[in-house]
Amino acid sequence: MIYILKGHDLRHAVEEMILHLLPTVITEQAETEKGDYCISKLEIDGQNAKATAIVRIGDRIEQKSKEAILPNADELANKRVLTEIIKLSIYNAIMMFLDKAPEWGSLTGVRPAKLARGLMDRGLTRAEAAVQFREKFGVSAERTALTMRAAAYAQNTIELLPENSVSLYIGIPFCPSRCAYCSFVSQSIEKSAGLIPPYVDSICEEIKRTGEIVANSKRVLSSVYMGGGTPTTLSPEQLEKIMLCVRNSFDMSNLIEYTVEAGRPDTITAEKMQAIKLGGADRVSINPQTMNDEVLKNIGRHHNADDVIKAYEIARKTGFSVINMDTIAGLAGDTPDSFENTINTLIGLNPENITVHTLAIKRGADLYDKEANANQYSSVKTMLDTGSKLLSSAGYGPYYLYRQKFTAGGFENVGWCKPNTENIYNIAMMEEIQSILSVGAGAVSKLVDLKTGKITRFVNPKYPKEYMESSERIILGKQKLFHVF
Ligand code: SF4
Repeated sequence: MIYILKGHDLRHAVEEMILHLLPTVITEQAETEKGDYCISKLEIDGQNAKATAIVRIGDRIEQKSKEAILPNADELANKRVLTEIIKLSIYNAIMMFLDKAPEWGSLTGVRPAKLARGLMDRGLTRAEAAVQFREKFGVSAERTALTMRAAAYAQNTIELLPENSVSLYIGIPFCPSRCAYCSFVSQSIEKSAGLIPPYVDSICEEIKRTGEIVANSKRVLSSVYMGGGTPTTLSPEQLEKIMLCVRNSFDMSNLIEYTVEAGRPDTITAEKMQAIKLGGADRVSINPQTMNDEVLKNIGRHHNADDVIKAYEIARKTGFSVINMDTIAGLAGDTPDSFENTINTLIGLNPENITVHTLAIKRGADLYDKEANANQYSSVKTMLDTGSKLLSSAGYGPYYLYRQKFTAGGFENVGWCKPNTENIYNIAMMEEIQSILSVGAGAVSKLVDLKTGKITRFVNPKYPKEYMESSERIILGKQKLFHVF
């Protein structure tokens, strides 16, 4: 499908809404109005603004408009209103071609719980915010309830975090091999084992310098999260080295939690678990993605479901207080029944946290193959809904929630937890309620101003080699970000 902008250049809003509703590939064009298209037109007359969307799919053309009065408070406020009417006009026009509204209605944002908290901050009660979700955005009852529960966890976390606290993220972008669905820049060790020792040295130096930034800016460290990639691709000695460096570089007396994402079960050994525990972590994540051996093969994993159970038992024996297990709904060859079996097996193991991700629905699908699209959508929806029901009745609550951008249906990823075991880092990062200092290739540091809501970022170079060659520039960037010189 092509899209054409007339009278505005808010292409991001247009792209976001089309991709939210249709499993298509889009390109912008200046004029051609042949084939499938979406024309987004904006007319402004004084304070009156009118957005019109004209959408053609096949032989049918639909047109919808949305009007608003501009607040004229500032440029940003005006832009917010214009974005909203542009999106709604497109939503209403495309909805004329669809049989059913998406679960998240017209909401395209990745952080629905943050939006709900924003409504409550502006004076709405929880019930009123839920009504807005249902009536204004057309969000389903299930997704509205999920959002409100996640918003409550975020609110509790805000109260729990010490004043002026930060979290530390440590990125290890290596994996034993590459999973078929991976969109991350992780390097498989088959190709890049030689990079690991110098990478560990570089990350230790960055941790040390980041510790100085935290101390000099009078902040306190509340949580540490080592993620990837697969951190347990490293040897026990390399893990020990990094974790010792963290202890030597930061005041750990305010630490609430320390998580290491062990990740793939085929990398987990008793020695590594021991090194992680002795290094100071109290939480690990083991990520089977599915407990169906066939599906594991399809996604290129070199382990089976039994290996997951063995890895879980090693982690339990090592004595971690919280274990998380990740799953993905919608993997190649998975079915709602087999996904239900995965969730039931994991509930049977009794980890404190279970995370349910959704695989992005493939782009480029045939727009006219309505049946295939509907099947894919409804199979993922069934998996997620079944997962929600099973986890809720097993005593887990949805403690954090985010949605994938630019995916048809825009389904959600949800972290579920047993009471009082929520991962504070995940909530703080996803809800943007705390500043995060991140180290490693591709790591993103964020300075969050809770009063104004302003977020400033600093992004480390993406690839390990480039990262290792840029240490001084990275530290300077972070010092600037946190106003420490
Ligand atoms: S474990 Fe994660 S990061 Fe590593 S290859 Fe698989 S999907 Fe990518």
